[in-house]
Amino acid sequence: MLRCREISEQASDHIDGRLSAGARMQMAMHLLMCGRCRSFMRQMRLTVAALRARDEESLSAGRAAELASAAMVASRISDEKED
Ligand SMILES: [Zn+2]
Repeated sequence: MLRCREISEQASDHIDGRLSAGARMQMAMHLLMCGRCRSFMRQMRLTVAALRARDEESLSAGRAAELASAAMVASRISDEKED
């Protein structure tokens, strides 16, 4: 099972469609069980879409997702309790 931190690390690759089938499956399973990561992914997609719309030429989805992830990881996932 992936940890929330791994979800956040793979989010940009997921949005860009760069994850392997196995990685997508693992992420999907985690998202089924973890509401926090579901909302994280939703916000990530919205943020990427907004950044892309604003700065379409110069900002890849991956870069936008990294920016969004850095901000959200710091505020949302830093206090996770796992293991
Ligand atoms: Zn999670």
